[in-house]
Amino acid sequence: MRVDVFTIFPDMVSGFAGQSLLGRATTRGLLDIRVHDLREHTTDVHRTVDDTPFGGGAGMVLMPEPIYAAVEAAEPPRPLFLLGPGGRTLDQAMARELAAGGGFSLLCGRYEGVDDRVRTELCDGELSIGDYVLGGGEVAAMVVLEAVGRLVPGVMGNAASAGEESFSDGLLEYPQFTKPAEFRGMAVPEVLRSGDHGKVARWRRAQALRRTVAARPDLIEARGGLTPDEQGLLDELAPDEAP
Ligand code: SAH
Repeated sequence: MRVDVFTIFPDMVSGFAGQSLLGRATTRGLLDIRVHDLREHTTDVHRTVDDTPFGGGAGMVLMPEPIYAAVEAAEPPRPLFLLGPGGRTLDQAMARELAAGGGFSLLCGRYEGVDDRVRTELCDGELSIGDYVLGGGEVAAMVVLEAVGRLVPGVMGNAASAGEESFSDGLLEYPQFTKPAEFRGMAVPEVLRSGDHGKVARWRRAQALRRTVAARPDLIEARGGLTPDEQGLLDELAPDEAP
């Protein structure tokens, strides 16, 4: 899957994309992440990408010319998203949608933002990573790349792990433990060491429900509350343990 990223700080994004999960996926030919430097598409000696806002006010705004030139030269996969706090907020459902598609592209703003003609005429949509303001779109691009990249078929070693993790069925994930079985007096729940796969699965389901009820009641609400079966499982298996 090809993903193009347009930025004035290409090294930030390509450094990140070259490591760990995304780096390995790229080496294996599953991901093709192309990072484009907007400054390479300027025409003046100072390689200027920004100017002062019409109408006055603080800060600088990215100009349309270098962005249009970079996008026209790269012919990136669409949709092309402008990263910005005004966009649709990335969530796991959207990450899944993008991972199932044929590719997409991201434009990173900086300073006070990007000339609005870029947003309305060149881009296909706007994407936010949350209700806060970053200094630039690069970190947001990395968030999108990682959340989507790991869901691209073949990228994660154990394909089953994506189906069981948080949000996969509207619940948070059950708690995970590894060795040692006892650490500073804290023991791993006995059931996980029992070897009884049926019991383990029921315990995990109950814990996922309990954790979600306690920490994210909005997620329970969104899936239409608990089924009688789920309520029963909760009462039976996780009645008074702390979430
Ligand atoms: N003046 C703008 C913020 C500009 S921040 C405003 O008030 O809305 C500079 C750049 O950082 C933006 O152009 C955008 O590309 C990026 N950015 C900031 N917050 C972001 C967020 N929550 N999600 C995605 N990108 C964001």
